[in-house]
Amino acid sequence: MRGLLVGRFQPFHSGHLAVVREIRARRPDAHLILGIGSAQRSHTRDDPFTAGERFEMIARALEEAEIDACEPVPLFDIDRHAIWVAHLRSVLPPFDLVYTNNPLTRVLFEADGFRVEAPTLIDRDRLQGTAVRRAMIAGDSWTSAVPAAVAGYLREIGGPERVRMLSTSDAGASPGSGS
Ligand code: NAP
Repeated sequence: MRGLLVGRFQPFHSGHLAVVREIRARRPDAHLILGIGSAQRSHTRDDPFTAGERFEMIARALEEAEIDACEPVPLFDIDRHAIWVAHLRSVLPPFDLVYTNNPLTRVLFEADGFRVEAPTLIDRDRLQGTAVRRAMIAGDSWTSAVPAAVAGYLREIGGPERVRMLSTSDAGASPGSGS
């Protein structure tokens, strides 16, 4: 059996890690694919980090937490929701169970006959990607919301500085979205 957890992981925080830990504990025999959603996006306000950087955050956090049998895989968006699941089936190894908190993602997988579970969100006020990015912009403390290995890596790549730069009015807009 193999599960698929889909998320954007911008960045990979302690709430995501807790979900992975819980899924692995609940189904110790099942491998888990960590689908890095919107892999093509980076350097925008809402999606500051590349798929490769998100892969590295996840790999370091899993190693630090000694969690095995999880494979991060970048997933590119396609412009037709109706065939997204078929697209994923063509690029991923076989999987039977999907974990997501995104309503659209749930609907699309259920329409294709997949069983979908919503992972329990832990300490949601503090552990959310938006809150971590906002704290970086404000210069507030954010390191307690991410695994230590992720905090170290984000400092290494100048993550907080990038998020702050992208928060300025022009820098974080998608190409072609401005006037
Ligand atoms: P998501 O990561 O599944 O998350 C949905 C919400 O749940 C987010 O607010 C997320 O917050 C939160 N969440 C997830 N796990 C959490 C945890 N352990 N603790 C606290 N909060 C948690 O949804 P998403 O970010 O929108 O990712 C879905 C991906 O699938 C996207 O990249 C989307 O583009 C892609 N997709 C593509 C297509 C297509 O190409 N046609 C169709 C459908 C979906 P955080 O911000 O804290 O993670």
